[in-house]
Amino acid sequence: MTERVVVLGCGPAGLIAAERAEREGQGVAIMARKMKSVMPGAQYLHEFIPGVTRQEPTGYVCLKKRGTRPGYASKVYGDAEHPVSWDNYSEGYVPAWSLGDAYERLWNKWEDKIIDVQLDRSMIQTLAGEKGVLILSTIPAPILCRGGCKFNSAEVYFSGRPQPRVPDNTIVYNGDPLDLWYRTSVIFGHGATEWAREPGHVPVQMGRKPTHTDCECQPRRVVRLGRFGSWDKNFLVHHAWERTASALHEMQ
Ligand SMILES: Cc1cc2nc3c(=O)[nH]c(=O)nc-3n(C[C@H](O)[C@H](O)[C@H](O)COP(=O)(O)OP(=O)(O)OC[C@H]3O[C@@H](n4cnc5c(N)ncnc54)[C@H](O)[C@@H]3O)c2cc1C
Repeated sequence: MTERVVVLGCGPAGLIAAERAEREGQGVAIMARKMKSVMPGAQYLHEFIPGVTRQEPTGYVCLKKRGTRPGYASKVYGDAEHPVSWDNYSEGYVPAWSLGDAYERLWNKWEDKIIDVQLDRSMIQTLAGEKGVLILSTIPAPILCRGGCKFNSAEVYFSGRPQPRVPDNTIVYNGDPLDLWYRTSVIFGHGATEWAREPGHVPVQMGRKPTHTDCECQPRRVVRLGRFGSWDKNFLVHHAWERTASALHEMQ
């Protein structure tokens, strides 16, 4: 029986999980290094979340593809057969909700309740041993690992500038081997370009995309959510909403 939910992490996935757990009638605590997450690139919520986003989409984003799917996979992962988000989307318009606005709203609501702490596995294990506690963890999965598991990832280099002549609310997936960049976008006025290797001619930031893990050794009553929490590159921020509800129902 779950009596209390502890959310680890205060990025967008963590705060969406906290909001959903509260909506389900749970007492919620949030523990995290208390810093507002910076969301790299042009990001958006793919679905409406009641009470978190407005019902109407903020806008419609036009998805375009250039070159081929194997060309795209080779550029991103160095392997033409690798699973890629190219497969998840068709060209055309999709509804999009502002992630920045939703996160701002949630941050303003939850900020005072975030306990500022640097977590490690033994702290989480102690917490998970408390009766009636369910932990929803969005902190990077390796922190919960006993050791010895695989956490594969790919490098991503991004800049806050789109490629020239990309109109607002557009994402271009680029499988053309003649260009080094593989994705560029402008969403609600924020631009981004991504490369798998350092382009050299523009200032970029380096990050990592989780690609695979075999780790299942998180303590009992800990559910991993979020892109880095679940170590799943297909985890989108809005998935935290439904997965929190499922985790709560499974633990009853
Ligand atoms: C270029 C790019 C574009 C993306 N576009 C989208 C998109 O359009 N839509 C989408 O849904 N997703 C997108 N994603 C994926 C992902 O959902 C986002 O990166 C999202 O911002 C991640 O949010 P999060 O809350 O899961 O993680 P984070 O924002 O990284 O939050 C992690 C939290 O854990 C805390 N933490 C970490 N370690 C510790 C510790 N030891 N102790 C205490 N606290 C700790 C941090 O302080 C932070 O609060 C994109 C990712 C990238 C890289």
